[in-house]
Amino acid sequence: MPVPQRQLFETEPEPWELDDQSRQLVAAVVLAEGPPREFDYLVPDGLRASVEPGRRVKAPFGPSNRPVVGYCVRLEDQPVGRRKLKPLSSVLDERSLLRPAMLRLTRWIAEHYLCDWAAVLEAVLPAGVRIQAGTRLTTLLSVDEDAVQKLGTPPKLAAKQLDALRALADAKRPMTPGELARAARCGPGPITSLRRKGLIRAHAGRVNTRLPEEMPAACEKHLVMNPDQDRALKTIVKALDARRHQTILIHGVTGSGKTEVYIQAIQEVIRFGRQAIVLVPEISLTPQTVDRFRRRFGAVAVLHSHLSDAERHASWQQIAEGAAPVVVGARSAIFAPVPDLGLIVLDEEHESSFKQDSVPRYHARDVAVARAEAENIPLVLGSATPSLESWRRAKAGRYALVEMPRRVMDRPLPTVGTIDLRVERGRSLSSGAISRQMLSAMRESLEDGGQVILLLNRRGFSTHIQCPACGFVVRCPECDIALTHHRKEAIALCHYCDYEVPAPTACPTCGFTGIRYSGLGTQRLEAEVRARFPDMLCLRMDTDTMQTPGSHQRALAAFRSGKVRILLGTQMIAKGLDFPNVTLVGVINADTALHLPDFRAAERTFQLVTQVAGRTGRGPKGGRVLVQTFSPDHPAIRAAVRHDYAAFAAGELPIREMLRYPPFADMIRLVIRGRSEPITASFANTIAERLSAALQQPGTDARVLGPAPCPFARLRGRYRFQIQVQGPDDQLRSAVAAATAGLQPPDDVQWIVDVDPVEML
Ligand code: ADP
Ligand code: ZN
Repeated sequence: MPVPQRQLFETEPEPWELDDQSRQLVAAVVLAEGPPREFDYLVPDGLRASVEPGRRVKAPFGPSNRPVVGYCVRLEDQPVGRRKLKPLSSVLDERSLLRPAMLRLTRWIAEHYLCDWAAVLEAVLPAGVRIQAGTRLTTLLSVDEDAVQKLGTPPKLAAKQLDALRALADAKRPMTPGELARAARCGPGPITSLRRKGLIRAHAGRVNTRLPEEMPAACEKHLVMNPDQDRALKTIVKALDARRHQTILIHGVTGSGKTEVYIQAIQEVIRFGRQAIVLVPEISLTPQTVDRFRRRFGAVAVLHSHLSDAERHASWQQIAEGAAPVVVGARSAIFAPVPDLGLIVLDEEHESSFKQDSVPRYHARDVAVARAEAENIPLVLGSATPSLESWRRAKAGRYALVEMPRRVMDRPLPTVGTIDLRVERGRSLSSGAISRQMLSAMRESLEDGGQVILLLNRRGFSTHIQCPACGFVVRCPECDIALTHHRKEAIALCHYCDYEVPAPTACPTCGFTGIRYSGLGTQRLEAEVRARFPDMLCLRMDTDTMQTPGSHQRALAAFRSGKVRILLGTQMIAKGLDFPNVTLVGVINADTALHLPDFRAAERTFQLVTQVAGRTGRGPKGGRVLVQTFSPDHPAIRAAVRHDYAAFAAGELPIREMLRYPPFADMIRLVIRGRSEPITASFANTIAERLSAALQQPGTDARVLGPAPCPFARLRGRYRFQIQVQGPDDQLRSAVAAATAGLQPPDDVQWIVDVDPVEML
C-alpha cells in the first residue's frame, strides 16, 4: 500500500515564526490561585510550540518567584517593550482543555456572576481532568516530519518500517511503542530502527490506564409523532437548518411527548456529524432517562455527580474527541467539551437545581443561552411549568414558543380536586395526615389494582417540638431552626446542619413531661399509611431513606414492578417519574412552600402541584389527583387544579411587576454572615451604604433593600444578613462591583454575591 504522501510529508507552518528580534510572544495568564487579574508572561522559544490558550502553564510569581499554576487565556505577538517580562516555566497540558468559545464563555460567566475568572475556570474543568485522573506517564512516539521529508520520495525504507511509519502518521495522536507495534502488526525491531534513524521521536506523555466504557448500539426506532410534536420538531429543525441561534421554549403538559421531540431533533443534529447536549435535573438523571437516549443513539456520555475522577476524565476525553454524539447530564454538563455542538436541550427548565449554590453561582439555563448564542446554535427549553423568566421572554418574542397542550395518544390529563383542610380539621377529631376523602380515594385505587403516590414535602416524624406549659420550642443551638423529631432514631435533628440530640421526653427548660410533638413529616405519614393499609406494601422516599448508593433506583424498580403499592415521599417523587399504573396522586399538604418568605413561593407551589399531578393518568386506567390544602382559593392552587399555566402566569406576573421582582427587574442578593451579630450587622450596613452611593448616579433606576436578617437568621452559629438590589442588570452589576471593590470584611465575617438568586432563605 502506498504511503499517504500528503499526510506524511506536508509540514504545518510553525505557529509563531520569529525571525524578528524586535518582537516577542506574550501569554496572558489567569492564576488558579492569586490576584484576580491577568498577568503577562514571556513565552520562551522552547515553549512556543506547546503554549496555547486553554492550556495550563507554570510560571514564577511574586518577588520570590514561587511557581504557580495558571491558565493561558490569550497569546499576543508584541513589540519588545520597556517592561521586562518573566518567562513561563512550563506548559502543563498536552492539548488545550478549553476551546476558544469555551474560554469566552467562562469569561462571560465571571463577568455576569461577578466572580473571579479563575474560579470559573477551576469549576468548569473537573478536578479529574485537571489532575488527569486515570492516566499514567509513559513514552509516546510521533513522526518527525522534518526528518521524513528529507527521506525523499518514495522513501527508501524496509517494508515493515514503512508500515510502522505510516501507522503512526495515520494515528490521530501519539502512540506508545506497544500501541504502534499492534497497529503496524510488527515487533519492536522496525520501531527501534525508525527511532535510531530519527524518523520517529520519543517523548513523555500520558495514556489512559482504563479502557473507555463500551458504548452500546442504538436499538430502537423513532415513534410516529402526533401533530403537536411535529410542530415542535419543525420549529427546531427550521432553526437548525438556518444555522442560527434561537431559543425555543416548549411549553408542553406532562406526558405531551416532549422528550420524543428532543430525541428526533437530536437525530437531525447527529446526521450532520455534530453533537448535542441534554441537560436534566440531577434527580431526573435516572437509568430510565439515560436508557431512553441510549436505545436511540447508542453512544451517549452521561455526566452525573457520582462519577469518580478517573471516570469523569475519561468521559471528558471521549466527549472532546467527538466520540459521544450525545451528552446527557446535570447542571455542569453545559460545559461538556463537545467539538462541534449543534443543539442544547434543557429539560424541566424551571428547576431550581440548575442554579449552582457555590461559586461560581451560575444558572445553567442562562449559561446555556450564552453558549448557544456564542456557538450560533438553537437552544430548546422544555417544561410543563416554565419559569416566569422564560415565559415572559417567549411572550415578548425573544424566544420562540411552542405549545403542546395535549398528552400523547389522547390520554386525558388527570382530574384534580382539592380537599379543604380547614373543613376537614373541624369535622374530625383525629389529627391524622390523611383526610377521609383521601382515604376512600386510596381504597378505591388500590382495590382497583392501581398504585398510589403521596407527596409530603417534609421529612422526619414531627416537625415541631414544643412545651405546652412554658412555650419553649426545641431549636438547634447553632441555627435559627426548630428541630425535627425522627422517631426511628429517637432523635431531634436540625435539617440544616445535622445537629442532633436525643428526643426529649420532658421540657428541657421547665421539666414539664407533657412536651408536645406536632407538625407532620414523611415518617409519620408512613406510620399512618401502614396502620391504615397493613396488607399493602408501602415505601418511603426521602433523603433519610435514600442514603445508600443505588437506593433510589432500587426503590423505583420495586414500585415499577407493582410489588410496592403506595409510594410516599418528598418532592423527590414529584418529578419526571412515568408509572402507567398510578391512578391516584395525593398531595398531603400543598401549602408547605406557599407562605415562605420567597417571592417565588407561589410559583414553586404551582410547579410542585402540577408536576406531581403529572405522575398519574399515564396509562389506560387514567388517574386522578387530590390536593389537601388550607388555601384552596389561592391563585397558585386554583390554577394548578385546572392545569392552567397561562392563568397562573397572568395572575402572578403583575404582582412581580408591581414589586419589581424578576422577570421585570434583575436582582442581586448579598448575604453577609459572621459569628458576632453587631459586627456582622454593621458590616452589612457599610455595604448597603456603599451600594446606595454607587446607585446615586443620575439615570439609575435601581433600589437597595436591606440590610435585614435573612429568613434563616442564624445558621451553623453564624448570623446572616441580606441585601437585595433590584433594577436593570447592567446598573446592578456595576454598582455591586464598585461597592465591593477592595472591601475588607472584619475578621470572621464573610460575604457572598448571588446574581439572579434562586435561594432566598
Ligand atoms: P414528556 O417528556 O412531555 O413528559 P414523553 O416524551 O416522556 O413526554 O412521552 C410520554 C410517553 O408517551 C412516553 O412513554 C413516550 O414513549 C410516549 N410517546 C411519546 N410520543 C409518542 C407518540 N408520538 N406516540 C406514542 N407514544 C408516544
Ligand atoms: Zn443546625
